[in-house]
Amino acid sequence: MTYLQDTLARLQQTSPAQTEFYQAVEEVLESLEPLLEKKPHYLKHSIIERMVEPERQIMFRVCWVDDKGEVQVNKGYRVEFSSTLGPYKGGLRFHPSVNASIIKFLGFEQVFKNALTGLLLGGGKGGSNFNPKGKSDSEIMRFCQAFMSELYRHIGPTTDVPAGDIGVGSREVGYLFGQYKKIKNSYDGVITGKSVANGGSLLRNEATGYGCAYFANYMLEAQNSGLEGKTCLVSGAGNVALHTIDKLYELGAIPVSCSDSSGTLYHADGIDVDQIRKIKSDGNASLKDYLSTHSKAKYVARDDNPKNGNAVWHYKGDLAFPCATQNELTEVDARALVEAGCVAVVEGANMPCTRKAVNTIVKAERLFAPGKAANAGGVATSQLEMAQHAGMQSWSEEKVDSKLQDIMHGIYTRSHQAAEEFGQPGNLLLGANIAGFRRVADAMIEQGVV
Ligand code: NDP
Repeated sequence: MTYLQDTLARLQQTSPAQTEFYQAVEEVLESLEPLLEKKPHYLKHSIIERMVEPERQIMFRVCWVDDKGEVQVNKGYRVEFSSTLGPYKGGLRFHPSVNASIIKFLGFEQVFKNALTGLLLGGGKGGSNFNPKGKSDSEIMRFCQAFMSELYRHIGPTTDVPAGDIGVGSREVGYLFGQYKKIKNSYDGVITGKSVANGGSLLRNEATGYGCAYFANYMLEAQNSGLEGKTCLVSGAGNVALHTIDKLYELGAIPVSCSDSSGTLYHADGIDVDQIRKIKSDGNASLKDYLSTHSKAKYVARDDNPKNGNAVWHYKGDLAFPCATQNELTEVDARALVEAGCVAVVEGANMPCTRKAVNTIVKAERLFAPGKAANAGGVATSQLEMAQHAGMQSWSEEKVDSKLQDIMHGIYTRSHQAAEEFGQPGNLLLGANIAGFRRVADAMIEQGVV
């Protein structure tokens, strides 16, 4: 696999200190080995070299004034990775950990994820190291306006269509859209995840979590099983985690945990998701406060996590849904899950499992659903939002949900079939990477060297 070593060596030289990005590239390239052996023409066209280099990377300064009248400066990013299959599409993340490596890995993953949906979507990602926590509503609005005052010149409804991600929900999307509209004087569908009142789609907010649970169910159904009666460990307590929990309940499963950056909550009877929402809506409350209404639940503070691990994965569960952030499920955690009899890990977040964790899960012959397949319901529903906005229409919840289920089933089928085609039935990581890559690569070759 010299192309893999060569590519990584080149990236380390030309894009130094981007560890998350190298991790994502390594995972994809490793899976492509059987395809590239069978179809060496992809190497002849230098597809790998072209795919790991974003078409455009924008970094900009964001200056805004806080409530004390002091000037604050943040970094803004938009990586326009690939427009091969459609407008650049991918969310914006506002979190203090955001840097060029994280945005680039997310953009790279997004290209294959979007290809897997079967829709006409390119891939991109963006964000800022701005920390929304503890900021007033006016500060959030001023930051979003300052961010969009630069971003607007790079995006457009058929060019680049951002959405939300960590730290960017419908409130932030509303402020970003408002500023774009004011500057451009045009009601363009230039960002998704908007409220319905602002031209958004029903279910866009719920779609990533719902899609993730649908995907898990399709995966189990193929084994003549299903989610009914299964206990599920879920991490995170944000958009993806809570909507995954909602849908797991609807499909008959029992989600028994959630977590945030301060700690983990475990409740064997099933997490009371309404109570979690109440806690999360109070800016000063902690998941630990759940114990005051549910005395049988347990809380583990982040400082008491197992060494090199995360407490949430050390409980017993039939399935695990990492839905918080990258590299939150380590090799230590994967071993604990396998030993406790977990049958499947379904990635709701982007790259939440470390490479060693993934290898442990796959080696133990447990089902593994990579994020680019399992969490694609959000971006797919963003495309449904783009279609509604462009047609000035609003579809019913039933219509959007039925399309979401079809798309998730299509993603499962494409990943499953590609894995079978290359002699590794059940290896959805390999299948998803090959199916996504092949769709982009074939279109790139047809479009010539551009
Ligand atoms: P939210 O901001 O709504 O929630 C993120 C959750 O993860 C919060 O509970 C947060 O806790 C926790 N979290 C964040 N960083 C850390 C950390 N370093 N350690 C522990 N916990 C952490 O984000 P989303 O739910 O939208 O996104 C979650 C994941 O899903 C991300 O990987 C995102 O890229 C991915 N994703 C999201 C999509 C979407 O449509 N929103 C689509 C596809 C993927 P706290 O509040 O304490 O920080």
